[in-house]
Amino acid sequence: MCAIFGISGAEEAANLTYLGLHALQHRGQEGTGIVSTNGTDPFVHKERGLVGDIFTSPVIDRLKGHTAIGHNRYSTAGGNTSENLQPVIMKSSIGWVSIAHNGNLVNASELTRKLEEEGSIFQSTADTEVILHLIAKSGERNLVTALTHALKQISGAYSLLVLNKEYLIAVRDPQGFRPLVMGEHNGKPIFASETTAFDLIGAKYQREVEPGEMVVVSLKNEFKNSSIYPFKPTPKKRCVFEQVYFARPDSIIYGSNVYQTRKKLGKRLAEEQPAKNADMVIPVPDSGVYAAIGYSEASRLPFEMGIIRSHYIGRTFIEPRQSIRDFGVKLKLNPVAETIHGKSLVVVDDSLVRGTTSKKLIQHLRNAGAREVHLRISAPPTAHPCFYGIDTPTKKELLASSNSVEEIRKFVGADTLGYLSIEGLLKVAQEKSGEGFCHACFSGDYPCLN
Ligand code: AMP
Repeated sequence: MCAIFGISGAEEAANLTYLGLHALQHRGQEGTGIVSTNGTDPFVHKERGLVGDIFTSPVIDRLKGHTAIGHNRYSTAGGNTSENLQPVIMKSSIGWVSIAHNGNLVNASELTRKLEEEGSIFQSTADTEVILHLIAKSGERNLVTALTHALKQISGAYSLLVLNKEYLIAVRDPQGFRPLVMGEHNGKPIFASETTAFDLIGAKYQREVEPGEMVVVSLKNEFKNSSIYPFKPTPKKRCVFEQVYFARPDSIIYGSNVYQTRKKLGKRLAEEQPAKNADMVIPVPDSGVYAAIGYSEASRLPFEMGIIRSHYIGRTFIEPRQSIRDFGVKLKLNPVAETIHGKSLVVVDDSLVRGTTSKKLIQHLRNAGAREVHLRISAPPTAHPCFYGIDTPTKKELLASSNSVEEIRKFVGADTLGYLSIEGLLKVAQEKSGEGFCHACFSGDYPCLN
């Protein structure tokens, strides 16, 4: 999973890109990068680490120009190395071209092998570089036609921002797996993975970039934009897991607000999976909070923050020599014993993947005096890996791939366990966004790719 952001015709394009990337930090924390231009040269900075640490004032000052694209990386294809950081940039017969990509290409290794046999030399193991090689080999002189030529050969998930000295181009794959929104900042086009990036810099959200749409902004013609639809129409397959977990709750994606959608998922969960004689609803913070509010409202059970999350966990921490049981979970999530002691709890989380968090957390809640724990998940069992850009473990590690709900309940040690149905999830997701979701991680129904 990754974040992309692009802005055109702005006085401080790199600075605004840095702020946009900051608001999208939740989509990737491994590394970040910005490529800016004044319509002639590119200026580049990419580094491993967090946006706030990498983009200091001197770094931003070096990123000159009125137009920029940026990227936050969370590796789902290729490793966590500095060569794989984005935006990728390359010089070819049509000049320099830079790309920021969110999603996974499913035929990247096949294309890479073919291109290498034909003499291409790859600098990274990230699938995005394939697109640059295809652009370079297209024989086209114009970026728009070269990119169209390249994209017609790839399949899979991509929301892309492409920059050269003439154009900023935003394009979303024909099925629209990953989100991409557009808006305006001082009357000029702006793009981001999620609207939260627009809020921070005072840009106005206009609409989604439609699946299969290519929005071309001309840097040489007052940043005017026009759209082309180079692909044959295909049913939409937008990732429903963005609504369940990944996107920020204050964002609008697929035309609906994520907070409201999650709350409705919680309401629906309460209808499908009630918990008899429970005393209160508590969320697993932060991801379970919104569904828990919905569950509490629908079930008329009080909502309590019975677990407190620490927000100060770095990547490494020093454990005392004498190891502490469940240290990792305790470091992050701590029950409030005074609130939950002697109580029957409905514990709401958004998803259960390996089950390790829930297992330890439930033990922890019992140690703090919980009488009963009824675990409720505001999505169906995650039983299938994602190939379109969400970082899921292999099928073997997914608890629900080889265990029944009852077996999972036993494993995590809950008194009862209830998941939302796929029908329930889709009904809520479709309410405002219409039909056309990818739910392969829950259903195993992998969209056919063309
Ligand atoms: P687990 O211990 O593997 O069952 O982790 C479940 C928790 O991880 C849930 O509370 C989710 O909020 C969170 N989660 C689900 N999917 C992902 C993902 N792809 N990346 C990071 N965290 C996730």
